[in-house]
Amino acid sequence: MDKLDKFYITTPIYYVNDKPHIGHAYTTILADVLARFYRSQIGDENVYFLTGTDEHGAKVAESAEKQGISPQEFTDQVSKEFSDAWKNLDISNDHFIRTTDKKHQQAVVKILEKLKEKGAIYEGDYNGLYCVGCEKFITNSELVDGKCPDHNKKPQELTEKNWFFKLGDFLPKIKKAIESGELMIYPETRKNEVLGLIDKQELPDFSISRSKDAVNWGIDLPWDDSQKVYVWIDALCNYITALDYPDGKDFKKFWPADAHFLALEILKFHAVYWPAILMALDIPLPKLNIHGFFTLDGKKMSKTLGNVISPNDLVDKYGPEVTKYLILSQFSFGSESDIKVEHFTEKYNADLVNGLGNLVNRVTNMIEQYLDGKIDSDQFNKQIVGGEEIKNLRFREALLTIWQLIQKGNALIDEKKPWQLAKDEANKEELNKLLQELASDLHVVALSLKPFMPSKAEELIKILTAKKVIKPEQPLFPRLSE
Ligand SMILES: [Zn+2]
Repeated sequence: MDKLDKFYITTPIYYVNDKPHIGHAYTTILADVLARFYRSQIGDENVYFLTGTDEHGAKVAESAEKQGISPQEFTDQVSKEFSDAWKNLDISNDHFIRTTDKKHQQAVVKILEKLKEKGAIYEGDYNGLYCVGCEKFITNSELVDGKCPDHNKKPQELTEKNWFFKLGDFLPKIKKAIESGELMIYPETRKNEVLGLIDKQELPDFSISRSKDAVNWGIDLPWDDSQKVYVWIDALCNYITALDYPDGKDFKKFWPADAHFLALEILKFHAVYWPAILMALDIPLPKLNIHGFFTLDGKKMSKTLGNVISPNDLVDKYGPEVTKYLILSQFSFGSESDIKVEHFTEKYNADLVNGLGNLVNRVTNMIEQYLDGKIDSDQFNKQIVGGEEIKNLRFREALLTIWQLIQKGNALIDEKKPWQLAKDEANKEELNKLLQELASDLHVVALSLKPFMPSKAEELIKILTAKKVIKPEQPLFPRLSE
């Protein structure tokens, strides 16, 4: 990561047939922290953070119809729920793309024409098993007892004219690109999974269009008016249309993506389909970061179980910054784990009220009492801790490193007992040095926390660098009852 001069970060575009939940929030928070970190390293203007919504498809049209509104009205509503949720969570995205944006649709048409010109697209008959719920053809090997395992329904046999993308032509090249590191996939286990997928040769050419009878809410295929563009090219190309591919200055500056964040269930599309499309267009390949699957309080999140959590509910209770902390501190990036929402308040009181908040109170109170609020902030350490961890996507570990410093501060106070030193004038120098060290470490904590808790960090920096340091009237983190 030497000589890094730009950083382009994306989340997947979220499908509007779903409401924003903690799963979407997790991916978006990862991207947000990384974006904030790189802005502090290479400047705001050199970081581009994109998120948005995927708004086409038969399921969207169906949902709109059920509500008696047009698909456009429906997607306007749900897309706004996503963008509002991210505002509420203080997400710092530079742009929010919608696949119904005119600019995006026009760019997709141009991309399709280019792919056709290059011979990557051909017309054919598709015979297959189609699950209406999944909105896609599924293979025999995916069936359980002859049924789609996600929908517990028998798929229909379907033949229709489609236009196809010649995925087969690109598979050997993709394999090579993964092996050489030209296409970066992190973590390593996911990279091996993709290589395994290619070796198994179960990756047929994929449809890029569907008949209008099957999908009537989408972009028109430019050269065949019986067809609508099917999901993959429309959705995946958002990552370049947002940058005004092919001639936009953002595209020239920011592509390839330095971090496409995604969940495991869309790995195949990002690690196989997407590089193939990019190769066909002669565009360099991005880096993929695949995060782990998590359960909530030991259960899989599902509408049936009723344990789907809206990020707005967490923000109402904890505020945006603490919500981010509570989610990211639960488990390491890339691993599969459990988020203990039940214990969020307990964790908040332990780490933020009793840990950081208590240290802030103790240190500022003692500076106010024993040093008349005078501390030399010019001497503060301006380093941050946890930066290497963030660069390596070890977000939880970065937080643990910061918290070690907080624990060290609280332990040092318990050990040195400044209130006893203060009793004797002879200890004045020692007391001064101790409080200076504690304040400086706290300043490091504040700087290091900026990507995670920007406004709390700023608040703390303001307190510590004031002309006269005094204990804050309101605690930084008020205690919550469990
Ligand atoms: Zn299904």
